[in-house]
This record gives sequence, structure tokens and C-alpha cells, in this order.
Amino acid sequence: MNDSGFCTDCGVKIVSFENLNTSNCPLCGSESTPCADENQVSASINWHELHILIVWAEQFAKTSEMKRTVWSIAHRIEKQYPDKHLLTLAGEMSQLKREFPEAKINGVAGVE
Ligand SMILES: [Zn+2]
Repeated sequence: MNDSGFCTDCGVKIVSFENLNTSNCPLCGSESTPCADENQVSASINWHELHILIVWAEQFAKTSEMKRTVWSIAHRIEKQYPDKHLLTLAGEMSQLKREFPEAKINGVAGVE
């Protein structure tokens, strides 16, 4: 049985869950359930559909830990397709703020 995977929040590779001395991620300390490699799938989805799902998840994440998880997942997907636009609303608004520093953006968590 393959018991390897990665941290859902920071993406660090976990060689074996059985050999972990803690239930927390050894790198970031996350207590969220990690991703098992055996559950890795490829799915056909339109980028716009993915953007909708991620923005909804981002907006309905009630805790900062859940927002971190959604953003981590989105960033791993964005890295796979660097030619596509950003998937998170926070990312899009941060990009807008960099291009138009005088812009005021209210009500979007994570805007830098
Ligand atoms: Zn981690």
C-alpha cells in the first residue's frame, strides 16, 4: 500500500504517514487532513469553472486556516498553468492593487 502524500496546506511531500511522529504537518504544523498520493486524479475542467469553485470556496471559508487551505490548493493549480489568470479573488485583487496602487479594495481577505 502506498501511504505517501503531501500536506494540503503547504504541499510538503510526506514520504510515509505511518512513520510520522505527529498528526501535524512536519513543516507548517497544519492539523488539516493531508492528501494521499493514491487519491491523486486528473479531471477535465474549464479554467473558468475552476475559478468559480475556488472563489466560492475562498469567500465561504469561515476561518483563516480554511482560507489558507483554499489558497494553497489554488496556488498549486496555478503553478501548473502559469499562462492562465489567477484563480483566487484575493490574488486578482492583489494584482489589481499592484497595477493601480491608488485603488481602494475593501472586503477581500488576503489582498496585499
Ligand atoms: Zn504543511
